[in-house]
Amino acid sequence: MRLEPVIGLEIHIQLKTASKMFCDCKAHEEAMTPNTHVCPVCMGHPGALPVPNEAALHDGILMGLALGCTIASQTKFDRKHYFYPDLPKAYQISQFDLPLASRGSLNLEIPGTAVSREQMTVGITRVHMEEDAGKLFHGEGGRSFVDFNRGGVPLIEIVTEPDFRTPQEAKAFLQELRTIARFLGISDADMEKGHLRCDANVSLRPVDEQGDITGKRFYPKTEIKNINSFRFVERAIAFEIERQTALWEAGNPPTEETTRGWNEVKQTTEEQRSKEAANDYRYFPEPDIPLFDLKELAHELATKLPELPARRRARFVEEFGLKKEDARALCEDVAWANYMEAVFAELATWLQDVEDLSEDQVPTERRKLSNLTANWILNRLKGLMADSSVDIRTLKITPENFAEFVTLIATRKVNQATGVKLLTEMMETGADPSHIMEEKQMGTMEDVNVLAEIVGRIVEGHPDEVLRYQQGKKELLAFFIGLVMKETEGSADAAAVRNLLLVKLET
Ligand code: ADP
Ligand code: MG
Ligand code: ZN
Repeated sequence: MRLEPVIGLEIHIQLKTASKMFCDCKAHEEAMTPNTHVCPVCMGHPGALPVPNEAALHDGILMGLALGCTIASQTKFDRKHYFYPDLPKAYQISQFDLPLASRGSLNLEIPGTAVSREQMTVGITRVHMEEDAGKLFHGEGGRSFVDFNRGGVPLIEIVTEPDFRTPQEAKAFLQELRTIARFLGISDADMEKGHLRCDANVSLRPVDEQGDITGKRFYPKTEIKNINSFRFVERAIAFEIERQTALWEAGNPPTEETTRGWNEVKQTTEEQRSKEAANDYRYFPEPDIPLFDLKELAHELATKLPELPARRRARFVEEFGLKKEDARALCEDVAWANYMEAVFAELATWLQDVEDLSEDQVPTERRKLSNLTANWILNRLKGLMADSSVDIRTLKITPENFAEFVTLIATRKVNQATGVKLLTEMMETGADPSHIMEEKQMGTMEDVNVLAEIVGRIVEGHPDEVLRYQQGKKELLAFFIGLVMKETEGSADAAAVRNLLLVKLET
């Protein structure tokens, strides 16, 4: 007998709409003075009437469509009751039996793991809308504070089927969801900022060697609350699997559903309550909001659905010949994906004008240029940007200028060392590369005669090393290359230097 983990996720995504879910208050709570963006509706004053935010409904439908769900022809809101200081109405407006969207699925690739499937289909149970609660701060001396700016901010809740089998799969799904939210433009989905929050449900079940279930299909699950980073999702689930495995092996498997919290400091989950003590939410229909018919809106939004990350990645691989992991890295942020696309378009135009390039060489050249672009962005530019706190949204290098930069590298007019200097300058000034090269006299030393003269001078200046080289110490070639590069301040083409040196030293 083997124990197989059964994992399902419940995810909340905070939308970046201008206003809250049911009132006109501003929805962004970051850096706002506490309790300044509140009104009778989101403070739950008697008689105040909620009016659903149409933009938030659009966002929810878009997410439902992106996850392959059926959009409800009719949807409604319900009151979910609980008493807690962050909830002034003592109920949250949510959706119970007629969620916005349901029964979807998402094909998921699980990158870079040997312990999980490489690919899986995640069943999506439902997608519904609700409002956020206020934010509690626990201060000194047992005092607590509450900020209602967040109260009433729109959330989408996504519930998956218990389809994940490893912590890595769950994490990959969460990351994909973040990327989808960004591509849809509905949320920044930043876990650290609480835009994306996740509860993980975990249980185990016995299976045989073939993976077939030998006992019941499901056993009582544990719900882990308050997971606020991708790393912790993986850790909390892994911890829970270990904890439950020990219980099973001791002949004492869980007999009731429990809720546990992830303790970041101790890196463990801790029991919060068992099912008996769990809240009865006493759901009932929100009487102040009528039933919605979504058929027409869903049809209209289906035509506006942007290209989703999985498709974008696949296209970067098929159309531009990028490596799979590079395509993934570049599509994490829709702004970067769009930037790449613009650079590729510039490069395609440039290729058209390259002389002596036959029709059948074009795809190969194109792939080379795309990969050169990806390499410079992922291995150099992103690092330079991070060092100077530049963001893709504040980057001064236009796609056109970046494409020109890539062509300079491709045609060896600029070598690696000069490339980094040039790129730094471009990032700081936003100027185009040829202009900078002219002004700063950068560029590969193209004059072979000058280079040959330098090589000759250096070889003559080091007779001992030349002798040792000729006696068999071939490693000294690197020493000579280093001297020439230093003399030319890194502007020489390394291959040309090497050839000239070989001619000088070997004859
Ligand atoms: P609850 O009524 O406790 O909210 P739901 O049936 O709504 O439970 O499921 C909530 C989440 O828990 C879903 O993501 C679902 O996939 C997952 N889940 C349900 N049963 C199990 C189980 N036995 N083991 C692990 N996850 C489960
Ligand atoms: Mg539930
Ligand atoms: Zn309000």
